[in-house]
Amino acid sequence: MLNDPRSHGLWQATAPQPPATASLDGEVFADVVVVGGGYTGMSCALHLAEAGRRVVLLESREIGFGGAGRNVGLINAGLWLMPDDMIATLGPVHGERLLRLLGDGPALVMDIIDRHRIDCELERNGTLHCAVGPAGLKEIKEREAQWQRRGAPVRVLDAEQTKARLGTPAYSGALLDERAGTLQPLAYARGLALACLRAGVTIHTSSPVVAADRKADGWTVRTAGGAVDAEWVVVATDAYGTGPWRSTRAEQVHLPYFNLATQPLGADLLRTILPGHEGAWDTRTVLSSFRLDRSGRLVFGSVGALRNTGTAIHKAWARRALARLYPRLRDIAFDHEWYGQIGMTTDALPRFHKFGRNVVGFCGYNGRGISPGTVFGRELALLILGEQSEAQLPLPSSDLVEIPFIRAREAWYEIGAQIAHLSLARL
Ligand SMILES: Cc1cc2nc3c(=O)[nH]c(=O)nc-3n(C[C@H](O)[C@H](O)[C@H](O)COP(=O)(O)OP(=O)(O)OC[C@H]3O[C@@H](n4cnc5c(N)ncnc54)[C@H](O)[C@@H]3O)c2cc1C
Repeated sequence: MLNDPRSHGLWQATAPQPPATASLDGEVFADVVVVGGGYTGMSCALHLAEAGRRVVLLESREIGFGGAGRNVGLINAGLWLMPDDMIATLGPVHGERLLRLLGDGPALVMDIIDRHRIDCELERNGTLHCAVGPAGLKEIKEREAQWQRRGAPVRVLDAEQTKARLGTPAYSGALLDERAGTLQPLAYARGLALACLRAGVTIHTSSPVVAADRKADGWTVRTAGGAVDAEWVVVATDAYGTGPWRSTRAEQVHLPYFNLATQPLGADLLRTILPGHEGAWDTRTVLSSFRLDRSGRLVFGSVGALRNTGTAIHKAWARRALARLYPRLRDIAFDHEWYGQIGMTTDALPRFHKFGRNVVGFCGYNGRGISPGTVFGRELALLILGEQSEAQLPLPSSDLVEIPFIRAREAWYEIGAQIAHLSLARL
């Protein structure tokens, strides 16, 4: 994308072409202007257009340019936080509501994919949160207990069952979440864009919003080439945000995360390595994730940026780690590599913001944005449609609080990941 092979890697190479869109030129009118062409913005735009609203969506670069086109493609149910910790932080009303909505999030994603026939390599076989040693096993058992108390279809697999699913004996167990799955993230984003267009949304790409002016009956949102007059503005720019609401970027520390994709594995290997096509990641702090794509490539990732000294360090680590997980992949070639920035908030919870009268947005998904972005987009649409009040949203409105010394923290994450991956003992 945009001639950078390390920005969207495999997903750019294998996603269906994006629908044709042009930049904004001149002044147009809408009921709602949505800023940002990722999952949050497009889910919101789609739900609004399906309810008959005139929607213009402005994307600064291309559809899926942000996290939506760079991620691992794990359609998770819930957040990194343990369910009980969400309740402790948010209180029972918002906490339980958020858990319920995000627990049902993968079902919403899969329903949209089915309804709009989005070709995005959807796999509905769940995810495996893999336990490293006794501490990892304790953690996933606690997660299992907390979700099972809420009736969720999750269960811990023992070491033998885990080995049969993964094709490696490296883990002491795994939490199987049957609500979850995997997809091709950029293909999902482009499919959402096509669904939006068919529902009547006007999409302008290469149209960064640079200013927003309040007027008597709404807002004028401006790009270099034009303006949109609308009653409502949805800010869906998240960790890649620029322009008038770039403070959402400043409340999220960028945590870099990279992926390497092998060449397609042969039929023999695919009989033992993730034969059920679950998405997997482990309980380490500097975690590893792995999943297959439709062609049988293993997508293997961890924390780190593929730039400067990081490129060689992380790729060397990935080769060692993959060989330890799957000795038969010791010499396999990596065909694609890419990385992106995950936006991390201070308490690992997303945020709902009111930036002004009728200017609203969600952001801060801490590496869990496929389901949450899709869910929060729909929730914003319901708010704008008057079908729910602000008090019924899954999160209370919060103030924007910029994280101090954010660049220093980001530099530490980037260097810390290199130090972690330089250690030969670490997987
Ligand atoms: C490497 C990586 C791995 C991840 N893995 C997973 C995973 O496996 N599962 C999961 O659920 N989540 C994962 N995530 C997180 C997930 O990708 C994000 O949470 C999700 O993309 C957020 O969706 P969004 O629509 O809110 O924002 P984005 O997808 O980032 O979209 C925001 C869009 O806004 C546009 N924009 C910004 N400023 C402006 C402006 N001024 N005017 C117009 N447009 C603007 C950007 O160009 C961008 O396209 C991962 C993220 C990364 C980076």
